[in-house]
Amino acid sequence: MKRKVDFLVIGSGLAGMMFALKVAKKGKVLLVTKADLEESSTRYAQGGIAAVLSDRDSFEKHIEDTLISGDGLCNREVVEMVVREAPEKVKELVDLGVEFDKNASGEPDLSKEGGHSESRILHYKDITGKNIEETLAGRVRENRNIEVWEQAFAIDLMTQHHLGRLVKRWHKDIACYGAYILDLKTRDVITVLAKVTVVATGGVGNLYQTTTNPPVATGDGIAMVYRAKGIIENMEFVQFHPTSLYHPGERPSFLITEALRGFGAVLRTLDGEKFMHKYDPRGCLAPRDIVARTIDTEMKVRGDDYVWLDCTHLDPEELVSRFPNIHRKCLSIGIDMRKNPIPVVPAAHYLCGGVKVDTRARTSISRLYAVGEVSSTGMHGANRLASNSLLEAVVFADHAAEDALAHLDEYSWEEKIPEWDYEGTSHPEEMVLVTQDYKEMQMVMSNYVGIVRSNLRLQRALTRLEIIYNETEELYKKSVLSRKLCELRNLINVGYLVIKMAQARHESRGLHYNIDYPGKNDQT
Ligand SMILES: Cc1cc2nc3c(=O)[nH]c(=O)nc-3n(C[C@H](O)[C@H](O)[C@H](O)COP(=O)(O)OP(=O)(O)OC[C@H]3O[C@@H](n4cnc5c(N)ncnc54)[C@H](O)[C@@H]3O)c2cc1C
Repeated sequence: MKRKVDFLVIGSGLAGMMFALKVAKKGKVLLVTKADLEESSTRYAQGGIAAVLSDRDSFEKHIEDTLISGDGLCNREVVEMVVREAPEKVKELVDLGVEFDKNASGEPDLSKEGGHSESRILHYKDITGKNIEETLAGRVRENRNIEVWEQAFAIDLMTQHHLGRLVKRWHKDIACYGAYILDLKTRDVITVLAKVTVVATGGVGNLYQTTTNPPVATGDGIAMVYRAKGIIENMEFVQFHPTSLYHPGERPSFLITEALRGFGAVLRTLDGEKFMHKYDPRGCLAPRDIVARTIDTEMKVRGDDYVWLDCTHLDPEELVSRFPNIHRKCLSIGIDMRKNPIPVVPAAHYLCGGVKVDTRARTSISRLYAVGEVSSTGMHGANRLASNSLLEAVVFADHAAEDALAHLDEYSWEEKIPEWDYEGTSHPEEMVLVTQDYKEMQMVMSNYVGIVRSNLRLQRALTRLEIIYNETEELYKKSVLSRKLCELRNLINVGYLVIKMAQARHESRGLHYNIDYPGKNDQT
Protein backbone atom coordinates (compact mmCIF):
# COMPACT_ATOMS: atom_id res chain seq x y z
CA MET A 1 0.00 0.00 0.00
CA LYS A 2 1.16 3.53 -0.77
CA ARG A 3 0.47 6.73 1.13
CA LYS A 4 1.30 10.35 0.29
CA VAL A 5 2.03 13.11 2.79
CA ASP A 6 3.70 16.50 2.75
CA PHE A 7 5.89 15.85 5.77
CA LEU A 8 6.98 12.48 7.12
CA VAL A 9 8.41 12.83 10.63
CA ILE A 10 10.10 9.75 12.10
CA GLY A 11 10.31 9.93 15.89
CA SER A 12 8.23 11.54 18.62
CA GLY A 13 10.74 13.02 21.06
CA LEU A 14 11.19 16.75 21.55
CA ALA A 15 12.86 17.17 18.13
CA GLY A 16 10.26 15.34 16.04
CA MET A 17 7.24 16.83 17.80
CA MET A 18 8.55 20.42 17.69
CA PHE A 19 9.17 20.05 13.95
CA ALA A 20 5.73 18.53 13.37
CA LEU A 21 3.95 21.30 15.29
CA LYS A 22 5.74 24.00 13.30
CA VAL A 23 5.17 22.64 9.79
CA ALA A 24 1.57 21.55 10.45
CA LYS A 25 0.44 25.10 9.66
CA LYS A 26 1.27 24.57 5.99
CA GLY A 27 0.90 20.86 5.23
CA LYS A 28 -0.22 17.42 6.27
CA VAL A 29 2.16 15.71 8.67
CA LEU A 30 2.48 12.00 9.31
CA LEU A 31 4.31 11.43 12.60
CA VAL A 32 5.44 7.82 12.92
CA THR A 33 6.87 6.40 16.08
CA LYS A 34 7.82 2.83 16.84
CA ALA A 35 6.41 2.64 20.36
CA ASP A 36 3.82 4.84 22.10
CA LEU A 37 3.85 8.55 21.30
CA GLU A 38 5.42 9.54 24.62
CA GLU A 39 8.20 6.91 24.66
CA SER A 40 11.55 8.61 23.99
CA SER A 41 14.76 9.71 25.70
CA THR A 42 13.18 13.13 26.02
CA ARG A 43 10.76 11.66 28.55
CA TYR A 44 13.62 10.60 30.85
CA ALA A 45 15.55 13.88 30.88
CA GLN A 46 15.96 14.98 34.47
CA GLY A 47 18.26 17.98 34.75
CA GLY A 48 16.67 20.38 32.29
CA ILE A 49 17.40 22.75 29.44
CA ALA A 50 20.17 25.35 29.38
CA ALA A 51 19.50 29.02 28.55
CA VAL A 52 20.99 32.35 29.59
CA LEU A 53 18.23 34.01 31.60
CA SER A 54 19.84 35.77 34.58
CA ASP A 55 21.65 39.09 34.80
CA ARG A 56 24.74 37.41 36.25
CA ASP A 57 25.02 35.19 33.20
CA SER A 58 25.93 36.05 29.60
CA PHE A 59 25.84 34.44 26.16
CA GLU A 60 29.63 34.63 26.12
CA LYS A 61 29.88 32.50 29.28
CA HIS A 62 27.49 29.83 27.97
CA ILE A 63 29.37 29.78 24.63
CA GLU A 64 32.71 29.46 26.40
CA ASP A 65 31.49 26.63 28.68
CA THR A 66 30.17 24.73 25.65
CA LEU A 67 33.41 25.18 23.71
CA ILE A 68 35.54 24.04 26.66
CA SER A 69 33.45 20.91 27.09
CA GLY A 70 33.61 20.16 23.33
CA ASP A 71 37.41 19.95 23.62
CA GLY A 72 38.30 21.74 20.39
CA LEU A 73 35.79 20.10 18.06
CA CYS A 74 32.70 22.33 18.41
CA ASN A 75 31.68 24.53 15.52
CA ARG A 76 31.80 28.01 17.09
CA GLU A 77 29.28 29.44 14.66
CA VAL A 78 26.75 26.76 15.63
CA VAL A 79 27.41 27.15 19.36
CA GLU A 80 26.89 30.91 19.15
CA MET A 81 23.70 30.49 17.16
CA VAL A 82 22.18 27.93 19.54
CA VAL A 83 23.15 29.77 22.73
CA ARG A 84 21.80 33.12 21.48
CA GLU A 85 18.50 31.59 20.38
CA ALA A 86 18.00 29.67 23.62
CA PRO A 87 15.89 32.22 25.57
CA GLU A 88 13.48 32.65 22.66
CA LYS A 89 13.10 28.88 22.18
CA VAL A 90 12.45 28.37 25.88
CA LYS A 91 9.70 30.97 25.62
CA GLU A 92 8.17 29.02 22.72
CA LEU A 93 8.10 25.90 24.90
CA VAL A 94 6.41 27.88 27.67
CA ASP A 95 3.87 29.23 25.17
CA LEU A 96 3.08 25.63 24.21
CA GLY A 97 2.32 24.93 27.87
CA VAL A 98 5.60 23.52 29.17
CA GLU A 99 6.12 24.41 32.83
CA PHE A 100 9.42 25.27 34.51
CA ASP A 101 9.97 25.75 38.25
CA LYS A 102 10.02 29.31 39.58
CA ASN A 103 11.67 30.74 42.69
CA ALA A 104 9.93 32.69 45.47
CA SER A 105 10.05 35.93 43.45
CA GLY A 106 8.44 34.32 40.41
CA GLU A 107 11.65 34.19 38.36
CA PRO A 108 12.82 30.94 36.69
CA ASP A 109 14.52 28.70 39.24
CA LEU A 110 17.82 28.14 37.48
CA SER A 111 20.07 25.32 38.61
CA LYS A 112 23.75 24.78 37.96
CA GLU A 113 25.31 21.64 36.52
CA GLY A 114 28.83 20.34 35.94
CA GLY A 115 30.73 22.38 33.36
CA HIS A 116 28.40 25.41 33.56
CA SER A 117 30.00 28.49 35.07
CA GLU A 118 26.61 29.98 36.00
CA SER A 119 23.15 28.81 37.05
CA ARG A 120 21.26 28.49 33.77
CA ILE A 121 19.32 25.20 33.78
CA LEU A 122 15.56 25.50 33.57
CA HIS A 123 13.88 22.47 35.07
CA TYR A 124 10.62 21.09 36.32
CA LYS A 125 11.42 19.31 39.60
CA ASP A 126 13.62 16.36 38.50
CA ILE A 127 11.20 15.31 35.73
CA THR A 128 11.74 18.07 33.16
CA GLY A 129 11.69 15.70 30.18
CA LYS A 130 8.43 14.02 31.18
CA ASN A 131 6.79 17.41 31.47
CA ILE A 132 8.07 18.50 28.02
CA GLU A 133 7.17 15.21 26.33
CA GLU A 134 3.63 15.03 27.73
CA THR A 135 2.86 18.67 26.99
CA LEU A 136 4.01 18.44 23.39
CA ALA A 137 2.26 15.10 22.89
CA GLY A 138 -0.96 16.81 24.00
CA ARG A 139 -0.45 19.62 21.45
CA VAL A 140 0.37 17.10 18.71
CA ARG A 141 -2.70 14.95 19.40
CA GLU A 142 -5.06 17.92 19.20
CA ASN A 143 -3.56 19.24 15.92
CA ARG A 144 -5.78 18.31 12.99
CA ASN A 145 -2.94 18.49 10.48
CA ILE A 146 -0.84 15.92 12.33
CA GLU A 147 -1.65 12.25 12.03
CA VAL A 148 0.04 10.19 14.72
CA TRP A 149 0.90 6.61 13.84
CA GLU A 150 2.16 4.66 16.85
CA GLN A 151 3.78 1.20 16.72
CA ALA A 152 5.06 2.14 13.26
CA PHE A 153 8.69 1.32 12.53
CA ALA A 154 10.64 3.15 9.82
CA ILE A 155 12.74 0.50 8.07
CA ASP A 156 14.49 2.36 5.28
CA LEU A 157 14.58 5.69 3.47
CA MET A 158 13.75 5.74 -0.23
CA THR A 159 16.13 7.34 -2.72
CA GLN A 160 17.05 6.98 -6.42
CA HIS A 161 18.46 3.58 -5.40
CA HIS A 162 14.84 2.34 -5.27
CA LEU A 163 14.37 3.54 -8.84
CA GLY A 164 17.22 1.27 -9.94
CA ARG A 165 19.91 3.97 -10.14
CA LEU A 166 23.41 3.77 -8.69
CA VAL A 167 23.74 6.00 -5.62
CA LYS A 168 27.15 6.79 -4.12
CA ARG A 169 27.91 8.33 -0.74
CA TRP A 170 29.57 11.54 -1.83
CA HIS A 171 27.13 12.21 -4.70
CA LYS A 172 25.53 15.61 -4.33
CA ASP A 173 22.23 14.78 -6.02
CA ILE A 174 20.80 12.07 -3.75
CA ALA A 175 17.18 12.82 -2.83
CA CYS A 176 14.88 11.25 -0.26
CA TYR A 177 11.32 10.38 -1.34
CA GLY A 178 9.97 9.06 1.97
CA ALA A 179 10.36 5.80 3.85
CA TYR A 180 9.12 2.23 4.13
CA ILE A 181 7.18 1.90 7.37
CA LEU A 182 6.48 -1.40 9.08
CA ASP A 183 3.11 -1.48 10.84
CA LEU A 184 4.04 -3.43 13.97
CA LYS A 185 0.41 -4.41 14.58
CA THR A 186 -0.38 -5.86 11.12
CA ARG A 187 3.21 -6.53 9.92
CA ASP A 188 2.40 -4.77 6.63
CA VAL A 189 5.02 -2.50 5.13
CA ILE A 190 3.55 0.77 3.87
CA THR A 191 5.33 2.89 1.25
CA VAL A 192 5.05 6.45 2.55
CA LEU A 193 5.87 8.98 -0.16
CA ALA A 194 6.76 12.36 1.31
CA LYS A 195 7.81 15.72 -0.07
CA VAL A 196 9.97 16.23 3.00
CA THR A 197 11.28 13.57 5.41
CA VAL A 198 12.70 14.18 8.88
CA VAL A 199 14.64 11.68 10.99
CA ALA A 200 14.26 12.47 14.69
CA THR A 201 14.98 8.99 15.98
CA GLY A 202 17.23 9.84 18.96
CA GLY A 203 20.36 8.08 20.20
CA VAL A 204 22.12 4.73 20.34
CA GLY A 205 22.37 3.80 24.04
CA ASN A 206 21.28 0.20 23.43
CA LEU A 207 24.57 -0.50 21.69
CA TYR A 208 25.81 -1.13 25.23
CA GLN A 209 24.86 -3.50 28.03
CA THR A 210 24.24 -0.65 30.45
CA THR A 211 22.46 2.50 29.33
CA THR A 212 20.24 5.23 30.69
CA ASN A 213 18.40 5.31 27.33
CA PRO A 214 15.02 3.67 26.85
CA PRO A 215 14.76 0.58 24.59
CA VAL A 216 13.76 2.74 21.58
CA ALA A 217 17.29 4.24 21.35
CA THR A 218 18.75 1.86 18.78
CA GLY A 219 20.33 4.21 16.25
CA ASP A 220 17.73 3.50 13.55
CA GLY A 221 17.94 6.94 11.96
CA ILE A 222 21.71 6.88 11.68
CA ALA A 223 21.66 3.39 10.15
CA MET A 224 18.92 4.37 7.70
CA VAL A 225 20.74 7.48 6.57
CA TYR A 226 24.01 5.56 6.27
CA ARG A 227 22.34 2.88 4.11
CA ALA A 228 20.83 5.67 1.99
CA LYS A 229 24.44 6.90 1.48
CA GLY A 230 24.17 10.01 3.66
CA ILE A 231 27.15 11.41 5.59
CA ILE A 232 27.67 10.37 9.23
CA GLU A 233 30.36 11.83 11.52
CA ASN A 234 31.85 11.92 15.04
CA MET A 235 30.43 8.53 16.04
CA GLU A 236 33.39 7.80 18.33
CA PHE A 237 32.10 10.35 20.84
CA VAL A 238 29.72 8.34 23.02
CA GLN A 239 29.07 9.94 26.39
CA PHE A 240 28.90 7.64 29.43
CA HIS A 241 27.23 8.84 32.59
CA PRO A 242 29.52 7.85 35.49
CA THR A 243 26.90 6.73 37.97
CA SER A 244 23.84 4.69 37.14
CA LEU A 245 22.32 2.29 39.65
CA TYR A 246 23.78 -1.22 39.30
CA HIS A 247 20.69 -3.39 39.11
CA PRO A 248 21.25 -6.14 36.56
CA GLY A 249 18.36 -6.78 34.24
CA GLU A 250 16.84 -3.31 34.64
CA ARG A 251 16.73 -1.31 31.40
CA PRO A 252 17.06 1.61 31.17
CA SER A 253 19.46 1.98 34.07
CA PHE A 254 18.33 4.40 36.74
CA LEU A 255 20.43 7.54 36.74
CA ILE A 256 22.08 8.60 40.02
CA THR A 257 22.53 12.32 39.57
CA GLU A 258 25.98 13.87 39.83
CA ALA A 259 24.50 16.27 42.34
CA LEU A 260 24.81 13.48 44.91
CA ARG A 261 28.61 13.65 44.64
CA GLY A 262 28.33 17.42 44.77
CA PHE A 263 26.48 16.87 48.07
CA GLY A 264 29.37 14.83 49.50
CA ALA A 265 28.85 11.21 48.38
CA VAL A 266 32.14 9.34 47.86
CA LEU A 267 33.12 6.63 45.38
CA ARG A 268 34.77 3.50 46.82
CA THR A 269 35.94 0.14 45.51
CA LEU A 270 34.14 -2.93 46.84
CA ASP A 271 36.71 -3.27 49.66
CA GLY A 272 35.92 0.25 50.83
CA GLU A 273 38.93 2.13 49.38
CA LYS A 274 38.45 5.67 48.05
CA PHE A 275 40.06 5.80 44.60
CA MET A 276 39.20 9.00 42.73
CA HIS A 277 41.99 11.08 44.29
CA LYS A 278 44.59 8.66 42.80
CA TYR A 279 43.54 9.81 39.33
CA ASP A 280 42.49 13.45 39.68
CA PRO A 281 43.12 16.06 42.38
CA ARG A 282 39.43 17.03 42.23
CA GLY A 283 38.57 13.52 43.44
CA CYS A 284 34.88 12.66 43.16
CA LEU A 285 34.14 16.12 41.78
CA ALA A 286 36.24 15.66 38.64
CA PRO A 287 34.35 16.12 35.33
CA ARG A 288 31.93 13.48 34.11
CA ASP A 289 34.21 11.83 31.52
CA ILE A 290 37.14 11.52 33.95
CA VAL A 291 34.99 9.97 36.70
CA ALA A 292 33.43 7.52 34.22
CA ARG A 293 36.87 6.52 32.88
CA THR A 294 38.28 6.06 36.38
CA ILE A 295 35.39 3.86 37.52
CA ASP A 296 35.76 1.81 34.34
CA THR A 297 39.50 1.36 34.93
CA GLU A 298 39.03 0.29 38.56
CA MET A 299 36.30 -2.20 37.60
CA LYS A 300 38.40 -3.70 34.78
CA VAL A 301 41.60 -3.93 36.83
CA ARG A 302 39.83 -5.51 39.81
CA GLY A 303 37.33 -7.58 37.84
CA ASP A 304 34.42 -6.04 39.76
CA ASP A 305 30.95 -5.47 38.31
CA TYR A 306 30.39 -2.12 40.04
CA VAL A 307 31.77 0.34 42.60
CA TRP A 308 30.13 1.86 45.66
CA LEU A 309 28.75 5.37 45.96
CA ASP A 310 28.82 5.97 49.68
CA CYS A 311 26.46 8.46 51.37
CA THR A 312 26.42 6.83 54.80
CA HIS A 313 28.54 9.60 56.38
CA LEU A 314 26.09 12.33 55.30
CA ASP A 315 23.27 13.80 57.38
CA PRO A 316 20.45 11.28 56.81
CA GLU A 317 17.60 13.77 57.02
CA GLU A 318 19.15 16.27 54.64
CA LEU A 319 20.08 13.46 52.28
CA VAL A 320 16.53 12.17 51.98
CA SER A 321 14.95 15.59 51.71
CA ARG A 322 17.38 16.62 48.94
CA PHE A 323 17.19 13.34 46.97
CA PRO A 324 13.76 11.82 47.64
CA ASN A 325 13.50 10.16 44.24
CA ILE A 326 16.83 8.34 44.52
CA HIS A 327 16.01 7.32 48.08
CA ARG A 328 12.66 5.87 46.93
CA LYS A 329 14.26 4.01 44.05
CA CYS A 330 17.05 2.54 46.20
CA LEU A 331 14.58 1.46 48.89
CA SER A 332 12.53 -0.31 46.22
CA ILE A 333 15.45 -2.67 45.63
CA GLY A 334 16.34 -3.03 49.30
CA ILE A 335 19.04 -0.36 49.65
CA ASP A 336 18.69 2.29 52.32
CA MET A 337 21.23 4.88 51.18
CA ARG A 338 21.42 6.36 54.69
CA LYS A 339 22.91 3.06 55.91
CA ASN A 340 24.23 1.21 52.84
CA PRO A 341 26.45 2.30 49.94
CA ILE A 342 24.78 2.37 46.51
CA PRO A 343 26.20 0.07 43.80
CA VAL A 344 26.88 2.17 40.68
CA VAL A 345 28.27 1.63 37.22
CA PRO A 346 28.85 3.94 34.21
CA ALA A 347 26.14 3.79 31.55
CA ALA A 348 25.97 4.82 27.89
CA HIS A 349 24.05 8.07 27.92
CA TYR A 350 24.37 10.27 24.84
CA LEU A 351 25.80 10.27 21.32
CA CYS A 352 27.54 13.51 20.29
CA GLY A 353 27.94 12.53 16.62
CA GLY A 354 25.44 11.23 14.10
CA VAL A 355 23.95 12.39 10.81
CA LYS A 356 25.93 15.39 9.62
CA VAL A 357 23.70 18.44 9.16
CA ASP A 358 24.15 22.14 8.43
CA THR A 359 22.69 25.02 10.45
CA ARG A 360 19.29 24.40 8.83
CA ALA A 361 19.38 20.71 9.84
CA ARG A 362 19.77 19.66 6.20
CA THR A 363 21.56 16.34 5.70
CA SER A 364 23.76 15.55 2.71
CA ILE A 365 20.61 14.09 1.07
CA SER A 366 18.15 16.61 -0.32
CA ARG A 367 14.57 16.68 1.08
CA LEU A 368 15.93 14.93 4.20
CA TYR A 369 16.46 16.66 7.56
CA ALA A 370 17.88 15.23 10.81
CA VAL A 371 17.04 16.82 14.17
CA GLY A 372 17.81 16.05 17.80
CA GLU A 373 20.24 13.46 19.12
CA VAL A 374 20.36 11.59 15.79
CA SER A 375 22.13 14.56 14.22
CA SER A 376 25.65 15.93 14.39
CA THR A 377 25.32 19.70 14.28
CA GLY A 378 28.72 20.84 15.55
CA MET A 379 27.20 21.95 18.88
CA HIS A 380 28.75 19.29 21.13
CA GLY A 381 32.14 18.62 19.56
CA ALA A 382 33.96 15.84 21.40
CA ASN A 383 31.89 16.09 24.61
CA ARG A 384 28.41 17.45 25.26
CA LEU A 385 27.86 19.99 28.01
CA ALA A 386 25.01 18.93 30.33
CA SER A 387 21.53 20.20 29.38
CA ASN A 388 22.62 21.40 25.95
CA SER A 389 20.93 18.53 24.09
CA LEU A 390 17.30 19.46 24.68
CA LEU A 391 18.30 22.97 23.68
CA GLU A 392 19.97 21.79 20.48
CA ALA A 393 16.88 19.70 19.60
CA VAL A 394 14.49 22.61 19.94
CA VAL A 395 16.66 25.09 18.02
CA PHE A 396 17.37 22.77 15.10
CA ALA A 397 13.74 21.56 14.87
CA ASP A 398 12.83 25.21 14.37
CA HIS A 399 15.48 25.78 11.68
CA ALA A 400 14.53 22.58 9.86
CA ALA A 401 10.86 23.58 9.89
CA GLU A 402 11.60 27.04 8.54
CA ASP A 403 13.73 25.63 5.71
CA ALA A 404 11.27 22.84 4.86
CA LEU A 405 8.36 25.28 4.73
CA ALA A 406 10.29 27.57 2.40
CA HIS A 407 10.99 24.75 -0.07
CA LEU A 408 7.90 22.52 0.21
CA ASP A 409 6.29 23.82 -2.99
CA GLU A 410 9.35 22.82 -5.03
CA TYR A 411 8.87 19.10 -4.31
CA SER A 412 6.46 16.51 -5.63
CA TRP A 413 5.85 12.84 -4.80
CA GLU A 414 8.02 10.30 -6.61
CA GLU A 415 5.25 7.98 -7.78
CA LYS A 416 7.61 5.47 -9.42
CA ILE A 417 8.99 4.23 -6.10
CA PRO A 418 8.08 0.53 -5.90
CA GLU A 419 6.25 -1.04 -3.01
CA TRP A 420 8.13 -3.13 -0.46
CA ASP A 421 9.33 -6.45 -1.81
CA TYR A 422 8.11 -9.24 0.49
CA GLU A 423 9.50 -11.95 -1.77
CA GLY A 424 11.69 -14.58 -0.21
CA THR A 425 10.66 -13.76 3.33
CA SER A 426 9.48 -16.51 5.62
CA HIS A 427 8.88 -16.72 9.35
CA PRO A 428 12.08 -16.67 11.39
CA GLU A 429 12.55 -20.17 12.71
CA GLU A 430 14.13 -19.06 15.96
CA MET A 431 13.82 -15.66 17.60
CA VAL A 432 16.49 -16.85 20.01
CA LEU A 433 19.08 -16.21 17.28
CA VAL A 434 18.20 -12.53 17.23
CA THR A 435 18.18 -12.28 21.01
CA GLN A 436 21.54 -13.99 21.30
CA ASP A 437 23.17 -11.83 18.61
CA TYR A 438 21.74 -8.72 20.31
CA LYS A 439 23.37 -9.70 23.61
CA GLU A 440 26.67 -10.57 21.95
CA MET A 441 26.72 -7.27 20.09
CA GLN A 442 26.17 -5.38 23.37
CA MET A 443 28.89 -7.38 25.09
CA VAL A 444 31.39 -6.72 22.30
CA MET A 445 30.65 -2.99 22.32
CA SER A 446 30.77 -2.75 26.13
CA ASN A 447 33.99 -4.73 26.55
CA TYR A 448 36.00 -3.36 23.62
CA VAL A 449 34.46 -0.05 22.48
CA GLY A 450 33.37 1.45 25.81
CA ILE A 451 34.94 4.22 27.83
CA VAL A 452 38.58 3.11 27.50
CA ARG A 453 39.67 1.81 24.10
CA SER A 454 42.83 0.41 22.55
CA ASN A 455 43.84 -0.54 19.01
CA LEU A 456 43.70 -4.21 19.93
CA ARG A 457 40.25 -3.97 21.53
CA LEU A 458 38.85 -2.02 18.58
CA GLN A 459 40.20 -4.52 16.07
CA ARG A 460 38.84 -7.42 18.09
CA ALA A 461 35.43 -5.73 18.26
CA LEU A 462 35.40 -5.26 14.50
CA THR A 463 36.21 -8.90 13.86
CA ARG A 464 33.50 -10.10 16.27
CA LEU A 465 30.94 -7.64 14.93
CA GLU A 466 31.55 -8.82 11.37
CA ILE A 467 30.50 -12.34 12.36
CA ILE A 468 27.31 -11.06 13.98
CA TYR A 469 26.72 -8.81 10.95
CA ASN A 470 26.89 -11.72 8.51
CA GLU A 471 24.56 -13.85 10.62
CA THR A 472 22.05 -11.04 10.96
CA GLU A 473 22.04 -10.09 7.27
CA GLU A 474 21.37 -13.74 6.43
CA LEU A 475 18.46 -13.80 8.85
CA TYR A 476 17.15 -10.44 7.58
CA LYS A 477 17.00 -11.69 3.99
CA LYS A 478 14.86 -14.69 4.77
CA SER A 479 12.73 -13.49 7.69
CA VAL A 480 9.43 -11.77 8.13
CA LEU A 481 10.46 -8.41 9.57
CA SER A 482 10.26 -7.81 13.28
CA ARG A 483 11.15 -4.72 15.30
CA LYS A 484 13.87 -6.61 17.19
CA LEU A 485 15.54 -7.89 14.03
CA CYS A 486 15.50 -4.46 12.37
CA GLU A 487 16.90 -2.84 15.52
CA LEU A 488 19.68 -5.40 15.78
CA ARG A 489 20.60 -4.79 12.17
CA ASN A 490 20.67 -1.03 12.78
CA LEU A 491 22.72 -1.34 15.97
CA ILE A 492 25.32 -3.48 14.22
CA ASN A 493 25.51 -0.84 11.52
CA VAL A 494 25.93 1.92 14.09
CA GLY A 495 28.44 -0.12 16.14
CA TYR A 496 30.50 -0.56 12.98
CA LEU A 497 30.55 3.22 12.48
CA VAL A 498 31.60 3.83 16.11
CA ILE A 499 34.48 1.35 15.74
CA LYS A 500 35.65 2.63 12.35
CA MET A 501 35.60 6.26 13.46
CA ALA A 502 37.33 5.36 16.75
CA GLN A 503 40.04 3.55 14.78
CA ALA A 504 40.50 6.55 12.51
CA ARG A 505 41.11 8.94 15.42
CA HIS A 506 44.75 8.62 16.42
CA GLU A 507 44.47 10.64 19.64
CA SER A 508 42.47 10.84 22.85
CA ARG A 509 40.06 13.73 22.92
CA GLY A 510 36.85 14.49 24.78
CA LEU A 511 34.89 11.29 25.20
CA HIS A 512 37.19 9.19 23.02
CA TYR A 513 40.08 7.69 25.01
CA ASN A 514 42.52 5.26 23.39
CA ILE A 515 45.40 4.02 25.57
CA ASP A 516 47.57 3.64 22.45
CA TYR A 517 47.19 7.37 21.70
CA PRO A 518 46.81 8.96 25.16
CA GLY A 519 47.56 12.53 24.02
CA LYS A 520 45.87 15.04 21.78
CA ASN A 521 46.87 15.57 18.19
CA ASP A 522 46.66 19.34 17.87
CA GLN A 523 46.48 19.27 14.10
CA THR A 524 43.02 17.63 14.30
C1 LIG B 1 18.01 9.49 31.52
C2 LIG B 1 18.33 10.66 30.63
C3 LIG B 1 18.46 11.92 31.16
C4 LIG B 1 18.74 13.02 30.33
N1 LIG B 1 18.79 14.28 30.87
C5 LIG B 1 18.96 15.34 30.04
C6 LIG B 1 18.86 16.67 30.54
O1 LIG B 1 18.59 16.88 31.71
N2 LIG B 1 19.05 17.70 29.66
C7 LIG B 1 19.32 17.50 28.34
O2 LIG B 1 19.49 18.48 27.59
N3 LIG B 1 19.40 16.26 27.84
C8 LIG B 1 19.20 15.17 28.64
N4 LIG B 1 19.25 13.92 28.13
C9 LIG B 1 19.43 13.77 26.68
C10 LIG B 1 18.13 14.17 25.97
O3 LIG B 1 17.04 13.70 26.72
C11 LIG B 1 18.05 13.58 24.57
O4 LIG B 1 19.24 13.82 23.87
C12 LIG B 1 16.89 14.21 23.79
O5 LIG B 1 15.71 14.09 24.52
C13 LIG B 1 16.74 13.55 22.44
O6 LIG B 1 15.54 14.00 21.85
P1 LIG B 1 15.16 13.49 20.41
O7 LIG B 1 13.85 14.09 20.08
O8 LIG B 1 16.29 13.70 19.50
O9 LIG B 1 15.04 11.89 20.57
P2 LIG B 1 14.14 11.02 21.53
O10 LIG B 1 13.51 11.85 22.58
O11 LIG B 1 14.94 9.86 21.97
O12 LIG B 1 12.99 10.50 20.55
C14 LIG B 1 13.29 9.56 19.53
C15 LIG B 1 11.97 9.04 18.96
O13 LIG B 1 12.21 8.29 17.77
C16 LIG B 1 11.43 7.11 17.78
N5 LIG B 1 12.07 6.16 16.88
C17 LIG B 1 13.35 5.70 16.92
N6 LIG B 1 13.58 4.87 15.89
C18 LIG B 1 12.44 4.80 15.17
C19 LIG B 1 12.04 4.09 13.99
N7 LIG B 1 12.87 3.27 13.33
N8 LIG B 1 10.79 4.24 13.53
C20 LIG B 1 9.89 5.04 14.18
N9 LIG B 1 10.21 5.73 15.29
C21 LIG B 1 11.47 5.61 15.79
C22 LIG B 1 11.43 6.73 19.25
O14 LIG B 1 10.41 5.81 19.54
C23 LIG B 1 11.23 8.10 19.89
O15 LIG B 1 9.87 8.47 19.85
C24 LIG B 1 18.96 12.82 28.94
C25 LIG B 1 18.84 11.54 28.40
C26 LIG B 1 18.52 10.47 29.22
C27 LIG B 1 18.36 9.11 28.60
